[in-house]
Amino acid sequence: MFDTAIAGSLPKPAWLAETQKLWPQWKAEGAELAQAKLDATLLWIKAQEDAGLSVIGDGEMSRQHFVHGFLEQVDGIDRVNKVEMGIRNDRYKAMVPQVVAPLALRGRVHEAEARFLRAHTPRHVKFTLPGPMTICDTVADRFYGDRVKMAYAFAELLNREARELEADGVDVIQFDEPAFNVYMDEAADWGVKALEIAIAGLRCKTAVHICYGYGIEANVQWKKTLGEEWRQYERVFPALAASRIDQVSLECFHSHVPPDLMALLAGKEVMVGVIDVASDEIETPEQVADTIGTALRFVPAGKLIACTNCGLAPMSRAVAEAKLAALVAGARLATERLARAEA
Ligand code: ZN
Repeated sequence: MFDTAIAGSLPKPAWLAETQKLWPQWKAEGAELAQAKLDATLLWIKAQEDAGLSVIGDGEMSRQHFVHGFLEQVDGIDRVNKVEMGIRNDRYKAMVPQVVAPLALRGRVHEAEARFLRAHTPRHVKFTLPGPMTICDTVADRFYGDRVKMAYAFAELLNREARELEADGVDVIQFDEPAFNVYMDEAADWGVKALEIAIAGLRCKTAVHICYGYGIEANVQWKKTLGEEWRQYERVFPALAASRIDQVSLECFHSHVPPDLMALLAGKEVMVGVIDVASDEIETPEQVADTIGTALRFVPAGKLIACTNCGLAPMSRAVAEAKLAALVAGARLATERLARAEA
């Protein structure tokens, strides 16, 4: 059976935060909020286990946003006086915090939820962190004056937290780098180097997730401008293949990514996106198995992990649960097909 995993985020329950939003407001505060986050984490651990996933995540229940959850524990950032910035090459405008002094970690960032996750499932657990380049594309620099320098500074902090997560018992630490698909030359040049700083010294599995974004309108419109063939991965995959990173998570189903680009990841484990996060339509097991079948032309079966294209955070809970079930049903079907083909 192929391993099955989610990219990272899952929908927050209505009692925890506003639903179907990327920047939801919490519904509680203080100790009550801390408990609610863990309650929601437990709910999704169980839902992932029930769906049959082999790698379990915390669904990012404890962070408001995939980048800013980490930044909340970083000193040197002015979170009060936010400024408007075009991010992902001006795909959207966002009010972002400013880096105003040397960056430093105030302490642990994700200890509570990582230990909670480890304590509540015997299966492999994966934990996600934002990648250095994507963080740099989501904050305004008023101090370093050099994007690469700032990225390496963030990478050092990420590495400290990642080493602690490994000690917490996390099996896979994944860095989310959607910015790699926007600044392809820089990603191949220094983005992967920053990632190597972030994973330095880790003995657990390390992963990078590179996608075309959540299924929100700005991304749907952007994808329409990318043409018939999305070749963004072509620049960065060779640099990743030469890196120490163990796993690469990519978008596949319903994308225009030429599947043969996966061949550029020779030697790596590949998390193939078999679930579309931009549509509420539930994939059939046949569709999922077909996508896996296509990927198997370029990825050895032992290195293929069936995954979602991206996080499921902005979706409804019912749709997300149905998509998890479809992911596993499709992976089972693909396993049966492979066994028949080999027999
Ligand atoms: Zn993503």
